[in-house]
Order: sequence, then structure tokens, then C-alpha cells
Amino acid sequence: MLIKHFYIFSGIPVIMLFIACNNKIITNQHKQETIVEKHGLLQVKGTHIVDKNNEAVSLAGNSFFWSNPSWGGAKFYNKDIVKWLVKDWNTQIIRLPLAADTEVKDGYLYEPEVNQQAVERLVNAAINEGIYVIIDWHSHHAEQTEKQAIDFFKKMAEKYGKYPNVIYEIYNEPLKVSWDSVVKPYAERVIKGIRQIDPDNLIIIGTPNWSIDIDLVSHNPISDPNLAYTFHFYAGTNFEWKSGKMKKAIQNGTPLFVTEWGTVNSDGDGKVHTESVIRWMKLLKKYKLSHCNWSVNDKTEGASILKPGADIKGGWTDDDLTPSGKLVKKYIRHWQEIIREP
Ligand code: MG
Repeated sequence: MLIKHFYIFSGIPVIMLFIACNNKIITNQHKQETIVEKHGLLQVKGTHIVDKNNEAVSLAGNSFFWSNPSWGGAKFYNKDIVKWLVKDWNTQIIRLPLAADTEVKDGYLYEPEVNQQAVERLVNAAINEGIYVIIDWHSHHAEQTEKQAIDFFKKMAEKYGKYPNVIYEIYNEPLKVSWDSVVKPYAERVIKGIRQIDPDNLIIIGTPNWSIDIDLVSHNPISDPNLAYTFHFYAGTNFEWKSGKMKKAIQNGTPLFVTEWGTVNSDGDGKVHTESVIRWMKLLKKYKLSHCNWSVNDKTEGASILKPGADIKGGWTDDDLTPSGKLVKKYIRHWQEIIREP
């Protein structure tokens, strides 16, 4: 396992040299075909997400931080950051956590305009750059705000349902609540609202216990033609337990999407657990799962990809990146090569 990744990473200087020497060619290729032009509308098929040619797709990218201004991540919600992530990180997908939790006092529930505008700014940027984008109802109590969620996703479906770039994530991380009597009924009503307007874009729904109990779903799945289920992991804790749940869910036929993962502990802090990250990435590659790393921020905590004070418009050097940022960049930047290796 270690030797294999040594080869992957030992190849980076050669690849970087190639890109530097052929910058014009690479740029032209980018202009000719974006990742969304290549794959089109994503569709659940069995346990895979397939593209317009019916081939399994695995995407790697970044989750932004909560959209509310007072927690510090919203300053990175600008189009220059998206451009930079696409150009320098080869990011194929971004996730936008609309701060929709009842406990966030400057979030969408209390200050809808500023939060919605931030999200829309980056949805537009992602469409312009030709990458995929997840609109995430970032809440731990979404069943308490069902009406607001339905209204919000109807607005998003009206605006963006015609773009293959857009994915709806309708509940980030339910807490220890029932799948059968809480999360599933909520999801069915939000999905119904979206499907009245947008019949085909991918929808993702969180699962109980901070989107870890993915194995509960197969007993009582939701009926929808294009629905996947959220699985989250942080590398610092419980690899065997969490990966066991993930494997069991896949064996049971559940389609998964890793909308959020971290290199550190599940509270978003602590040191980078490189060995565990390598094990997780091998699993994501094996099962062709897509994933977004938490998070684009410069907050002083382990999961941030940036050191405090990094430029909010991008243009970062390696010195601007945290240990997590450096490791994650290697995976995202080379993911499309990694998943093609035997
Ligand atoms: Mg559509």
C-alpha cells in the first residue's frame, strides 16, 4: 500500500514538469473539454454514479466551509477561488455548505439573502468553469426546517435544474435520529418539491449518525430514479468500523457519495492521519466513489487547507497550505490519473 503510493507521489515532479512545459497545450485542452462536457449529467446506476456514456465516474474536489459570514469561511466564496482550484488543483467538483442549521444565527434561516447570494456566486462560477457543484443544505436538524428546505431547493431547481453541473444535497448530517421515521420522510418531501421542477439532476441525502450509518438505508430505500446517499468520514478515528459500514452498504446495493471527508479527527481538528488517508483513498478508488474534502478555509484547525491569512482570491504557494492542504491537493490534482491506475 505504501509502496504503491510512493510511486504515485514520486511521479509528481515529472508530471509537474510536463505540465509546465506544455502549459499551452493543457490550457487549450481545458478550453476544449471541461469535466462536465466530458461526462454530462450524472446518473445513479446500481452502486455507481455513471456519466452520459454509461461509464462509472469518480470525482475529487473541495468542500467549502459554512456560508455564514461570522465563521470565517464565507470570504472564500468568490469566483477567483473556483478558477484557482480548477487551474492549480484540477478540482472536478466543489461543495457549497449553505449554513442552514437552526443554531447558526447569521445563517440562511436568519439572513437568507447573504447566504443564498454566496452560494449562487459559486454555483455560477462552477458552471462557468465546467465543474460539478453540490448545493448542500448544511444542517444537523433539517427535519425542523423542512418547509424552508423545500422552498430553497425549488428556487435552486428553477435556476439551475437545466445545468448538468448541479447536484442537490438536501441534508448534510442528521444526528442520532431514525432513518425510517425522521430522515426518510423529510427526504421524500424535499425530493418531491425538487422533482416537480427538475426531473433528472442527481440528489444526495444524508444518513443518520453524522452520515456514518449508511448501512441503515438498504432496508428502507427511497424510490427515486437519481438518488445517492451521503457517507462521511474523518481519517483520525475508527477506520475499521466506518469502512465496514461503507462496504456493507455497497454490498447491499446502496449508491454512495462522499460529500465530505477530512484528514484529521471528526471534530475537524488535530493532526493529519496520513496512513489512514491512504487507506481511505484506496477504498474510494476501488469502489469508484466521488469525494469532497473539508474544507476551503484558513481557520486555525487541522482540516483547513489554508494557513491563516492566505489570499482569499487564490494564487497560493505550498507555503500557504497546511499539512492537510498539501496532502489533499496531491490527491485531488492527480485523482483522474490515480483511478485509472490498475
Ligand atoms: Mg435537470
